[in-house]
Amino acid sequence: MDRIQPPLVDPFARAITYLRVSVTDRCDFRCVYCMSENMTFLPKAELLTLEELDRLCSAFVALGVRKLRITGGEPLVRRNIMDFFRAMSRHIDSGALEELTLTTNGSQLARFAGDLAAAGVRRVNVSLDTLDDDRFTEITRWGRLSQVREGIAAARDAGLRVKINAVALRGVNEDELFRLTEWCAGSDMDLTWIEVMPMGDIGNEDRLDQYWSLSDLRARLATRYTLIDTPERTGGPARYVRLAETGQKVGFITPLTHNFCESCNRVRLTCTGQLFMCLGQEDMADLRAPLRAHPDDDAPLNAAIRAAIAAKPRGHDFDYSRRRPDGQVSRHMSHTGG
Ligand code: SAM
Ligand code: SF4
Repeated sequence: MDRIQPPLVDPFARAITYLRVSVTDRCDFRCVYCMSENMTFLPKAELLTLEELDRLCSAFVALGVRKLRITGGEPLVRRNIMDFFRAMSRHIDSGALEELTLTTNGSQLARFAGDLAAAGVRRVNVSLDTLDDDRFTEITRWGRLSQVREGIAAARDAGLRVKINAVALRGVNEDELFRLTEWCAGSDMDLTWIEVMPMGDIGNEDRLDQYWSLSDLRARLATRYTLIDTPERTGGPARYVRLAETGQKVGFITPLTHNFCESCNRVRLTCTGQLFMCLGQEDMADLRAPLRAHPDDDAPLNAAIRAAIAAKPRGHDFDYSRRRPDGQVSRHMSHTGG
């Protein structure tokens, strides 16, 4: 691998060191804020093969990407996905990659936790919005909470550190703020809250009905816990506090109430090879064409990656303040990868 190439830096002097890769748009759940129940998925022929994903991710690693997050759709429902994780582990072994990780709904973790740990994965983010069985099935439509809890237990048994991601949903999990916090604290898991983002058509659901502002959530948390601000930054829209009483970290991902684009260090690759330079903008670059046109030469692919980074926008335009989901982007989170 060529290590003497200059790193990726965008026009706003932000170094791009973090790639999020959606390896499939399919999922075994149908979360109400993410998809409509009769979601149409991409034809399989459009998807990059695992070998193509390997080549693309490896090109980014050679250009200085240090952290790779695998997501989807549900990454663990992609056929033979463990082959891909095993292949990526070579970049961990070589030291080129600092972290290989994934975001999952947890449904398949009981099956794969051991293999993930063996491939060099150290941490996983598991999305879980409620600890109530019926509510879980209402939110995910097709999911079973017990299966996810078993998956989380298996991940912990395999030595993986688990962080819980919960979407803040007005009138849905508001009353579970303390229960979820305590449950995570009891298992030494950090918890990050995410604001609902206006992405993709989700059928009859109303975004504004779902939106629960994290400033309100945070104020409520402060009625019971002492929130200590931490300086920790991941280059994304998350900000963290530590709860003095439990010691656990609680994160807030607030792309809507706050805008942290100035420190953005990431880009997102879809399972069809489109590179989105910003989660909240429609601009994208097609990397599948140079990838397929030049199977034995990475130079055109590298040039296309550099051209894309040179066009990374300053930030997104999400805005709910005018009481309608402004800045909405048409693609689903499951396409770009959350
Ligand atoms: N299926 C995996 C999962 O659920 O963790 C990975 C993909 S999912 C699209 C990634 C994250 O995006 C999940 O934490 C999910 O809750 C979140 N998400 C999906 N749609 C969202 C939306 N409209 N607004 C905010 N977060 C969303
Ligand atoms: Fe699937 Fe994740 Fe979207 Fe839920 S949030 S439907 S689990 S991709």
